[in-house]
Amino acid sequence: MQAELIFTGNELLHGFVLNTHAQFLGMELARLGIKVTLHTAVGDDWDTMKAVVSEAHKRSELIIITGGLGPTTDDITKEVVAEVLGVPMVIDEASLAQMRAFFAQKGQELPALFTRQACFPAGSRVLPNYKGTAPGALIERDGRVIVILPGPPRELEAMFKTSVEPYLAKMPGRKKILRTRHLKLTGIAEYAVQDLLKGLGGQGNPSLAYVAKPGEVHVRVYAQHDDAATAEKMVDELLTKVRDIVGEYVFAVDDEKPEEIAGQKLLAHRMNIAVAESCTAGMLGAKLTEVPGSSRYFLGGTVVYSNFLKEKLLGVPPEVLKRYGAVSEETALSMADGVRRLAGSDLGLGITGIAGPEGGTDQKPVGLVYIALTSGSKRICRRYVFPGTRHAVRKGAVNASLQMINNFLT
Ligand code: ATP
Repeated sequence: MQAELIFTGNELLHGFVLNTHAQFLGMELARLGIKVTLHTAVGDDWDTMKAVVSEAHKRSELIIITGGLGPTTDDITKEVVAEVLGVPMVIDEASLAQMRAFFAQKGQELPALFTRQACFPAGSRVLPNYKGTAPGALIERDGRVIVILPGPPRELEAMFKTSVEPYLAKMPGRKKILRTRHLKLTGIAEYAVQDLLKGLGGQGNPSLAYVAKPGEVHVRVYAQHDDAATAEKMVDELLTKVRDIVGEYVFAVDDEKPEEIAGQKLLAHRMNIAVAESCTAGMLGAKLTEVPGSSRYFLGGTVVYSNFLKEKLLGVPPEVLKRYGAVSEETALSMADGVRRLAGSDLGLGITGIAGPEGGTDQKPVGLVYIALTSGSKRICRRYVFPGTRHAVRKGAVNASLQMINNFLT
């Protein structure tokens, strides 16, 4: 089966809105084993949209069109489809009644303009919209299926999941099912990850792909198979091999949130933590407190950018700062101990580094960060050189700190 996607809206062409439907639908259809052969973005112009839909109708068995279902005159998608199929627009009384009820709840009458939202190309199956007012449509005709979905992402995603996915899952002609998982790494550059993994191949099926983001590298594993369970097994096996090689850099798997895991582990160990941040200046504290209920284990933190405050607030000895420098293992450890003392916490974590872009030397390059974690007599410190911009270095330091907490409590 050949599928293609048409995204409508001038805002997409002008770059005001990023086409996230392309990503969402692309991934969902791949998961279902439906091969997408073409994406087209088209403005709200009758002739152009009609030409695009006509061409798609000639070549593809499945066409998904997004946007342009609203009540205003520039919302023309359904009318264009009706013209291409040579069918009239007809009113769907059930949709009209629902819209009337929606407005009645707010004590209003249905504005006349909205009647358009209840009109569909004849022969449409109406797809309910649980997150908005404009229903979608699914039309089977001449051995083709056309699906029309609303523009707003939360409406489109909900409609796809509730009405379209169950329909497509039963369609014949689906090919290979795609399964994917990913590891998130920090403290290493993308090229270095590729180099470590080059022995795994990863070009065929299953395959590997790399994405560099500020402060992290994602290694994504893909596999395709007619059978979903086999595709999953292929992915899991390759993921395990990747992990065996680069596991020391992994701070999250799939959609895991390392800050949530840190919270769970601290709670499970009945421990709390305080942090002392220099180059990240509060980013770690902010990340840890994104988790609701983090006050149960996060006591607080200090932003100690200057040497003066490292000494004054945390008691970092001046001779340590003088002898080893502010960016050193000794200072990071002393910061971790200092904040632990100050807060009376079980764990103390210290971060000190050179975020750049200036301030690096041959011995201490930009990106150099020391992260220390101490608890009683246990004191660990790791040296990193994070690649990339100032933002990437600071984000990398936060990721690595969370990884250190999670590894420490394992
Ligand atoms: P409405 O009833 O809100 O007018 P609609 O079905 O007519 O909905 P559009 O007007 O085309 O949809 O789009 C509504 C909004 O949805 C856009 O302003 C944009 O923010 C978002 N949107 C539309 N298409 C996309 C897309 N491809 N990717 C991401 N967002 C999109």
